[in-house]
Amino acid sequence: MKIHEAHARKIFSDFGLPVPPSRMITSSAEARAATEEIPGPFVVKAQVLVGGRGKAGGVKLAGTPDEAVEKAETILGMEIKGITVDKVLIAHAVDIAHELYAGIIVDRRSRRPLMMVSPSGGIDIEEVARTTPEKILKIRIDPMWGLLPFQIRQMTSFLTDDREAAKQIGRALAALYQAFMGVDASLAEINPLVISPDRKVWAIDAKINIDDNGLIRRKSIAELRDESAEDPGEVEARSNGLSFVKLDGSIGCIVNGAGLAMATMDMIKHYGAEPANFLDIGGSSSPEKVLAAMRIILRDPNVKSILINIFGGITRCDDVASGIIEAKNELGIDVPLVVRLTGTNEEAAKKILAGTDLIPAETMDGGVKKAIEMAGS
Ligand code: GDP
Ligand code: MN
Repeated sequence: MKIHEAHARKIFSDFGLPVPPSRMITSSAEARAATEEIPGPFVVKAQVLVGGRGKAGGVKLAGTPDEAVEKAETILGMEIKGITVDKVLIAHAVDIAHELYAGIIVDRRSRRPLMMVSPSGGIDIEEVARTTPEKILKIRIDPMWGLLPFQIRQMTSFLTDDREAAKQIGRALAALYQAFMGVDASLAEINPLVISPDRKVWAIDAKINIDDNGLIRRKSIAELRDESAEDPGEVEARSNGLSFVKLDGSIGCIVNGAGLAMATMDMIKHYGAEPANFLDIGGSSSPEKVLAAMRIILRDPNVKSILINIFGGITRCDDVASGIIEAKNELGIDVPLVVRLTGTNEEAAKKILAGTDLIPAETMDGGVKKAIEMAGS
């Protein structure tokens, strides 16, 4: 689960990280009130749960309270990646001498929290990893012992020569690890962690993703979910019990079971095309799930054909077939639909689909080839 920067700042601050004061606001009047409580200068930031907010014009500096209110008014209502901004953070802006990066993710390979730091902060860390990987130091943390003092020294000496800043950075990294563990995060990131000209260290951005499996014991954090600021496809998928990941190709995929979904994507790539998504409709799939899946996929303008690949077990092929017909009637689908249904109630499904303009496929291999062919024409 993604949470807003405003909430991540609060969590960081509760765990002892140095975070400048801020307020989340939803109106011009609230913006005015915030500027009266927070010392200037200000930074005004859109609260949306998608990346690339800064580049989209969602982060603006303001010297005076009037300017901050004006910037807040411009950002409120702005569209960022299809999401309308209705929440804005107003924070005290810090002077920046150096921008660093510090983040923690769960590393599946070592099965440990992996802390990454870089003296090249502020910009996209994936970009740093690609172009200058030597500027990132990775430290694997054994959760049995936690972050050890020698590991902190390794990181601080990698980040700065300034002994005074190094002390503060060390404390910040220790607090970041505590916060990451303390809220069951899957990611906790400060980009940038800055050193000011007066050698003070500040976390001026905050990002935390919570492991969904931890939410059951983190009620107060679960309440922070804000669907209005999330990618609409992901929201709809979650509320319908679908696993959905958007990708950049042109073949939409509706499949049951994660393994078959992966195999279907592999086969699409094997034949030289690219899948538009990963979508697992799960086990007992009702017609409603198929309808939701179709709606999510059709929102993507890159989709040129859709492949429905179902191996019926608990999933009944006739349920899926009814869902397809419902989707066709309700959504007016104009991309070619290739359907491969096999297993439980296969015959009943074929009867439901007979006489429609759906393109049937007997085998998975044949279905994949057909979907690629139809996408190309
Ligand atoms: P993001 O681009 O969405 O990750 O937003 P950030 O909060 O990281 O801000 C992007 C950039 O805006 C930073 O790298 C800084 O260059 C600038 N910025 C953000 N906050 C401040 C601040 O408090 N003071 C100054 N001087 N610049 C800031
Ligand atoms: Mn940032």
